[in-house]
Amino acid sequence: MKQIALFALAVLFAQCTTYDLLIKGGQVYDGSAAEPQMVDLAIDNGEIVKLSQGISARAEKTIDASGLVVSPGFIDVHAHLEPLSLYPDAKSHIMQGVTSALGGPDGGSPFPLGSYLDTLAETGIGLNVGYLIGHNTIRNHVMGLVNRDPTESELTEMSGIISQAMQEGAFGISTGLKYLPGTFAQTPEIIALAKIAAHHNGIYTSHLREEGLGLLESVAEAIEIGRQAGLTIVLTHHKAIGQPMWGASTKTLAMVDEARAEGLDIRIDQYPYTASHTGISVVIPPWSMEGGRFDRFRERAADQVLRDSIRKGIVFNLINDRGGNDLRRIQFARINWREEFAGKTLHDLVVAEGMEPTIENGAEMIIQIQEHGGANAIYHVIDPEDVKRIMSHPMTMVASDGRLTQFGNGHPHPRAYGTFPRVLGNYVRAQNVLSLGEAIRKMTTLPAETLGLEDRGTIAVGYRADLAIFDPESIIDRATFQEPHQYPDGIKWVIINGQIAVEGDTFHDIRAGQILRRSGTATALQQH
Ligand SMILES: [Zn+2]
Repeated sequence: MKQIALFALAVLFAQCTTYDLLIKGGQVYDGSAAEPQMVDLAIDNGEIVKLSQGISARAEKTIDASGLVVSPGFIDVHAHLEPLSLYPDAKSHIMQGVTSALGGPDGGSPFPLGSYLDTLAETGIGLNVGYLIGHNTIRNHVMGLVNRDPTESELTEMSGIISQAMQEGAFGISTGLKYLPGTFAQTPEIIALAKIAAHHNGIYTSHLREEGLGLLESVAEAIEIGRQAGLTIVLTHHKAIGQPMWGASTKTLAMVDEARAEGLDIRIDQYPYTASHTGISVVIPPWSMEGGRFDRFRERAADQVLRDSIRKGIVFNLINDRGGNDLRRIQFARINWREEFAGKTLHDLVVAEGMEPTIENGAEMIIQIQEHGGANAIYHVIDPEDVKRIMSHPMTMVASDGRLTQFGNGHPHPRAYGTFPRVLGNYVRAQNVLSLGEAIRKMTTLPAETLGLEDRGTIAVGYRADLAIFDPESIIDRATFQEPHQYPDGIKWVIINGQIAVEGDTFHDIRAGQILRRSGTATALQQH
């Protein structure tokens, strides 16, 4: 009798359970690339607490996900989060279904990291964020823009900074060996510093030294660093730049497979576009900017002999590297000297200046742009077949390389708005390059595993309730190179730590994000 009463009480209790959120009727992809399941999700206190068919308990809010895909929230392992203090809502990222992002790529990061993370925690942020510590940032801090090896004490100082950042929660280190001052660093320096990250169980994300003619040597360098330092390597925004190298991804992927067969943990991330976006200085010979990107560059460019030599170096890059041998392939995103040319091409600018649109004149124009404070540009120099081949590799993650953007401000690369919906709508649905489950894996469990996030990236009981719910039939990016400021279609709901950030077309600035630290545990932020 007593047992029956207890049982009745338990049934009554179960019926009275009220969850924070119920998601019913969706096709649930757990992130593993397994077949989807038709199960309901119950969420409480930011966590997935129940996963089964036909959950009938009450909830504060119920989402009808009929006809929709329920996926773990997307994890972006290459994000430019520098403007987070300006745009803490992170709307341009969250509207794509991104719930966690890793900042500090390409060798550039906040410094010192610990106090920066504390500031973010006070501000409140829209999505979960973690950071890498950038080699360019610390080399510049310790040595400035000099072209030489570090002294022993400089190397010790850099190592100390990395060690401290790792203890403050960094996920590892990043390099940008194409950029100043990383380009002045030899391989042994990076190995020594990567060993510090390895000691703290971190990863090393490499923006390769070269992605054009020197691509294969640069992939080999990154793999060698992984071998010597003993840590996970991510070849970030992997691609083959410039016509002479189109198709080279066949070789780079074979190198990755060979290294993995040897036991090294080499991974890849990629944005799904045929154009890159970076400073115009990427086509300028680094020696001409040693000691100062603008002031020292101007001094050298004022010397006719040096100017001719700089121009020659740029001509070489325009033909073979990030120029595609056609001035129309370089599209300005931001140009300090002539703001009205944002969105226009180098060809347009040269013609507007009354010159013939030759490669030589394009190079001269780039010198003048750098003399006037530089520019950012979009370089249309990647082969669509390389994009697909790299995307299909099982160890490739989807990552945006996008910068947090304020709607309507400037002329960003469209990846800032469209990366994840573009993969799902274009490469999965339209082109059939990947299955839907495999694409989701590349956006969720694979990056979570790479970062060692133990409670995110998977839909399972006990995991954080970071979710992207979308319509697989309509999801698509809308941002283009011509009109980048467009949110994607088809993302119906985005849930971050159990809170609703996107509801149809409505964005809620709820700042539900948390600071992610290398251990995989997150430090809760103050609620706002
Ligand atoms: Zn980047």
